[in-house]
Amino acid sequence: MNTATTHAPAAQQPVLFLSHGSPMTALGGDELNATWAALAARLRRPEAVVMVSAHWNTRLPILTGSAQPETIHDFGGFPEALYQIVYPAPGAPALARRIKDLLADKGIVAGIDATRGIDHGAWVPLRTLFPAADVPVLQLSVQPELDARHHVALGAALAPLAAENVLIVGSGHMTHNLHEYMRGKPRAAETRAFRDWVHERLLRGATDALLDWHEKAPNAAFAHPSVEHFLPLFVALGAAGKDYATEWLGGGWVADVLAADNYLFGKAAKS
Ligand code: ZN
Repeated sequence: MNTATTHAPAAQQPVLFLSHGSPMTALGGDELNATWAALAARLRRPEAVVMVSAHWNTRLPILTGSAQPETIHDFGGFPEALYQIVYPAPGAPALARRIKDLLADKGIVAGIDATRGIDHGAWVPLRTLFPAADVPVLQLSVQPELDARHHVALGAALAPLAAENVLIVGSGHMTHNLHEYMRGKPRAAETRAFRDWVHERLLRGATDALLDWHEKAPNAAFAHPSVEHFLPLFVALGAAGKDYATEWLGGGWVADVLAADNYLFGKAAKS
């Protein structure tokens, strides 16, 4: 067992940031699936999962409130097998109301969408993490018009839930330049420089040093031509709090182009 979690109370869950790959990752057999399977073997079964997916973008934070959310196939042009996938986990409407209240306590106005299902940013990793689909899942949207600090505040409002056996997961991507993906330019130097800059700060728990990433990180606009796939990281960091221990879980590269790092943020061991 790693020392980051040795001293955690029984109900404490870590916080995760996952790079969720392309929809093709759902077919299994790649490095991301191996990374998530190894993680799943270590996770205690949570009461519920709060998924903050890059694929739900809204102006205000919105929570899914359905008791039985449908599986959304929010992609086009992929093999038919992907459209047959159903992830039938129950929703968590009571938890959605609780989170709305937690956000209100911090001055953040949020809404609940009682009809929206769960998108592939949520169900692709969940199928490997919890293949029985028996852990309730809700989603929280991201706000691409708002900055990293807003998303850290969202996560901070959720933080008490991690101590109540709720697993908070940011699901985005370390880098997400789809133009490079289409060109198939492998592991561009610009991508690696951005990834290494972020990775180094994550490993030393330097959340504050990441907040102005778009201005300070090398090649930020290249790594993320749009910001929605990076914002879930900040919700995860907000939920992890001020004093956390970072564990890099691996994940590799998608199509050898997009950096696909995954992280676990645990309670820092008390000395
Ligand atoms: Zn995505």
